[in-house]
Parts: sequence; C-alpha cells; structure tokens
Amino acid sequence: MSDPVKNQYEMRDPREQYPKPPFPEQPQSAPGLAQEMTPKPDHGENSYQGFGRLKGRKALITGGDSGIGRAVAIAYAREGADVAINYLPSEEADAQEVIEFIRAAGQKAVAIPGDLKDESFCQELVERTVQELGGLDILVSNAGRQTFQTSIADITTAQFDETFKANVYALFWITKAAVPHMKPGATIITTSSINARQPSETLLDYATTKAAIAAYTQALSGQLAEKGIRANTVAPGPFWTALQPSGGQSQEKVKEFGSDVPLGRPGQPAEIAPIYVLLASQESSFMTGGLFPVTGGELM
Ligand code: NAD
Ligand code: MG
Repeated sequence: MSDPVKNQYEMRDPREQYPKPPFPEQPQSAPGLAQEMTPKPDHGENSYQGFGRLKGRKALITGGDSGIGRAVAIAYAREGADVAINYLPSEEADAQEVIEFIRAAGQKAVAIPGDLKDESFCQELVERTVQELGGLDILVSNAGRQTFQTSIADITTAQFDETFKANVYALFWITKAAVPHMKPGATIITTSSINARQPSETLLDYATTKAAIAAYTQALSGQLAEKGIRANTVAPGPFWTALQPSGGQSQEKVKEFGSDVPLGRPGQPAEIAPIYVLLASQESSFMTGGLFPVTGGELM
C-alpha cells in the first residue's frame, strides 16, 4: 500500500490504492479473525466519512464483526444509524472492536453473538434487535460460510447442509421474523457473490447458495414492494477478508487472491461499504430487486 487511506474522496489510481498479491500464506480455522490477517484488511476505520445519510435508522447486520459486514457497520454508524451486529461467539475479539467503533461514532451498538444455523436463534436475533434498538429499518443479511473442496467426493452432507443453513435458510428465517417489524421505507440488503453467475469449481455448495441468495432477494423484492420495503443484493468479487484464508480458498489461492480481476488485486471491505450505504438510504428510493456487482472489473 502506498500510504494509508485517510480520505475516501481523494482521487487515486485504484490499482495502487491497496495491497496486491502475492500475499503470505496464513491459515486460520473457520470462521477466522480479521485481527489475524496479513496485511490487515481496511474496513474504513481511518477513512470512512459519514454525512448523516442514515440519521435515526436502526440496522441489523449479520457477520458484522469482520470483513464486509464490519465495514458496513462502521459506515452505517458514521452515517447516523444505531447498529446491532451478529457474529459467532468465537469472533468476540473482532466484534468488540466494531462495537467500539460504533460507539465512537456516537451511536448505539448492540452485540448479539449466536449461530444463524439455528432457526430459533434467528428469531431471537430479530426480537432482541427490535427491543434494544426500538425498531428495525435496515436488515443486512451478510453472514456466510465458504469451504473449498476440489472434489464433490470430499463434500460431506454435513458441509452441504451447514453451508445451506448459514447462507440460505438463515436469510429466510431472519427475513420472516424481520418483515412484520419493518415500515415503508425500510430496506433489506443481502450479500450474494460473483459466484452466483461465475460459479467456481472448488465452491460447489457455496456457489449454489450464492445463486440462491440472488434469486431469493429478487423474488422477495417483488413481494415486499406493496409494503414499501425495498430489497437488493450485492455481488462481491474477491475481497480481502477472513473468509478466504480460513478454508474459503486453498493457501495457494490466498497467495494470489485477486490477481485475476482487471484491477489486479482484491477489494478491501472499505471499498464495498458505500453501496450498502446507498441501498439503505433514501437516495436509492427507486432501486429494488437489483443485483449490484462490485468485482474489480470482473464481468458478471
Ligand atoms: P467474513 O468472514 O469476515 O464475514 C463472514 C461472517 O459470517 C463471519 O464474520 C461470521 O460472523 C459470519 N458467519 C458465518 N457463519 C455463521 C453462522 N453459522 N452464524 C452466524 N454468523 C456466521 O468474510 P466476508 O468476506 O466479509 O463475508 C461476508 C459475506 O460476503 C459472505 O456472505 C460472503 O459469502 C460474501 N462474499 C465474500 C467475498 C470475498 O471475497 N470475501 C466474495 C463474495 C461474497
Ligand atoms: Mg468474522
């Protein structure tokens, strides 16, 4: 990296803005910690500047401890939203940093650890968010798991099941619990992937869930229009997050991560948070049912 990004509005060469491969090997066990990554991901901690675009809103972000969800949590708080984050109990260290950033922005922060593979926990997560924040205006269903396997022979039924539970069922359970609390103007944002349209051969189960998330969100948007609730999905390309070195890719691929997109490097979480801000804010009032690629130039 040339020098730390202190101002997201400074004009720069996007190819040079952040670290490029090769990266060091850095195995972690899933779900991994952002704290343990080299180089450290940029979640906008030192650069994201808010303008009150989400003033008074109440947001729930799953996977808000690290990666994309963490960058979104920091951005939402600096835009004036109160934020609840969900994550797995083993991610408490990352999560506590995010809680501090939300509070430092002068907003209410609520930490709700728990496993989204459990339907009753998904319901409890929504109820606690509504209770502690006093409502729910923005739902960011972003948590996800990814385990690479080179052969279908090595994908166990347990892995297939867990990937679908965490990535797809949880979305359904959380949305079902959340919609009755949402008023016209509320928004739902999900995280799909470039894998929805360019499925990687080593991510058979994961890629299938990401295509499902895109279809789910687009179908949902049609249903929720009559309630004045919008739903959109973001499709990231390669992003430098704990998901990848913790079993999401082989270490060989981690070393070259992002090298095959036109900009020649992985995105940093700070570079995708702005679309989540746009899709949550009233600025995007006519955007619903959309799929928004953020891929460093890889075409979907
Ligand atoms: P990340 O590991 O930082 O975040 C994913 C989060 O999901 C974890 O922090 C964890 O809290 C949560 N999670 C996983 N399983 C869970 C469970 N059972 N219960 C509760 N929480 C659980 O990685 P990220 O890359 O920021 O991932 C965010 C989203 O972006 C995911 O949906 C991922 O599929 C998607 N995505 C990432 C990339 C990429 O290259 N990093 C590309 C496309 C899509
Ligand atoms: Mg995490």
